[in-house]
Amino acid sequence: MTPSSTWRTHMCGDARAELVGESITLAGWAARRRDHGGLVFVDLRDHTGVTQLVLNPESAPEAAELAHGIRNEFVLRAEGKLVARSPETVNPAMPTGDVELAVERLELVSRSTPLPFQLDEENVDETLRLRYRWLDLRRDKLQRNIRLRAQMVGIIRRDMEEAGFLDIQTPILFKPTPEGARDFVVPSRLQPGRFYALPQSPQILKQLTMVAGFDRYYQIAICFRDEDLRADRVQEITQLDVEMSFPDQELLFELMERMFQRIWRECLGVEIETPFPRMTFAEADRRFGSDKPETRFALELEEVTPATRGSELGVFARAEAVRFLRVPRVFSRGELAKLEELAKEWGAKGLAYLVYDGGEIRSPIAKFLSQDELAALGGGEGETLLFAADSWELTSRVLGALRLHLGRELGLIDEDAFTFLWVNDFPMFERDEDAGRWTAVHHPFTRPTEEWKERFPEHPGDALAHAYDLVVNGNELGGGSFRMHEPELQAQVFDLLDLSPEEQRVKFGFLLDALAMGAPPHGGIALGIDRMTMVLAGEPNLRDVIAFPKNQAAVDPMSGAPSEITPEQLDELGIQLLEAT
Ligand code: ASP
Repeated sequence: MTPSSTWRTHMCGDARAELVGESITLAGWAARRRDHGGLVFVDLRDHTGVTQLVLNPESAPEAAELAHGIRNEFVLRAEGKLVARSPETVNPAMPTGDVELAVERLELVSRSTPLPFQLDEENVDETLRLRYRWLDLRRDKLQRNIRLRAQMVGIIRRDMEEAGFLDIQTPILFKPTPEGARDFVVPSRLQPGRFYALPQSPQILKQLTMVAGFDRYYQIAICFRDEDLRADRVQEITQLDVEMSFPDQELLFELMERMFQRIWRECLGVEIETPFPRMTFAEADRRFGSDKPETRFALELEEVTPATRGSELGVFARAEAVRFLRVPRVFSRGELAKLEELAKEWGAKGLAYLVYDGGEIRSPIAKFLSQDELAALGGGEGETLLFAADSWELTSRVLGALRLHLGRELGLIDEDAFTFLWVNDFPMFERDEDAGRWTAVHHPFTRPTEEWKERFPEHPGDALAHAYDLVVNGNELGGGSFRMHEPELQAQVFDLLDLSPEEQRVKFGFLLDALAMGAPPHGGIALGIDRMTMVLAGEPNLRDVIAFPKNQAAVDPMSGAPSEITPEQLDELGIQLLEAT
């Protein structure tokens, strides 16, 4: 890389044998200083690498004197000649380990106070890392993650633009957009008593760009969702948001697959195979107990409900579904007890098992099972069958989670593989039992599949949506759908979701009006940039692919946000705070 400023002639990572004998100037951070008798060694670091500086009090007395005062993370500028290291001092672990800079002039550009943690220290408390994020970001791993993210976004933009998509910015101060989370609201000073909502996604606006004739839209959009935080959730997510008019699912999938292929090729040098396999939601649920199946290993769920209908074992006979995992391993009693504990955490009442060990079946339930039932299970020597007998949904949840746990524990996962997968044919609605009404599984603008278009109101629980998710290695990267461009159809869905005509007007009147003025068929997708970076970087911590994240309490330990505002600001907004209880 050629530096383009007068501060330096090269980057720290450029110091290689080819440059030996040249006079060069480097600038960067002091990563480490060592005094050896008279000589002082300093590792000088920038984002491209580290070069060792040598300061010799005989040839450069002033520089060597200055070097004694250097502490970690001081900013330095060093001028000198690049020399080969003597064979016994070559450091093969460093890319620049066979050279060093014999410093003639040293400039102490900037000092650092004592550091709250060292950059090479491991297991530093995350709150401390976030408090001093600027230091944390200097670490190799975070430099790599954030740079990888930028490289990926660059590829996405090039790819989308080559395919004729237009980057259109949509407002941050808007109206509630239903993606199923709680809204962040912003009070309006000019319209006292009124609030904007930060968009949970640009969903309605991107649909309006289609009605407006832009044909192909994309945006790297920030979406705000006031959710309770879990390890893999943040409240500000960044999405690649896409919409196209006169959409064609094959074309959309192909565009996305090609984009992923480019990202993986350019960022990792990995060729991923296209087209990605497809699986219906029903199949994913049946085989993997999940709507985002991890397909890097088998261990699929099996079902024996019909064979256990008349079982002497009451739980099996009565349960809506009896399903099991066939694990190619013999578990000990202690291991089974631990697995049962996990199953209970996920909602199971217990975990029945059959262990086929040394020609016998080890199990408290075996004696209740008939020969026919055992034959239907087909257990073989060296296997353990782990059962869930409950509602279909619960057996999916428990065995799906157990499957993932065992995949990891037993080392069944091929860590180098990337298994991309489209999941489609999602249910359109689900029942919110507490509220006693139907809700949209994706969002309320998703259209039914052609075969359900006429009859979804009669069987909402069975209706399928023209919606799809993209999954890789068990992570949902995002999803999308084809939308309703017919205002009558959209109103029918709103009716089913229990939105009164007045509510429809207030919340979505502008969308219904737009759909009534010549709306083309349209559909699209949104993919999580944060998640994509995690998978690409192999980074398990979501916050470590975001430059300035908040912690799990939604607080930024660096700036202290969210912060209080002054009584004057509250007055201006016409807001009165209740006493904290
Ligand atoms: N707006 C949807 C979401 O954010 C994606 C889409 O339907 O395009 O999940």
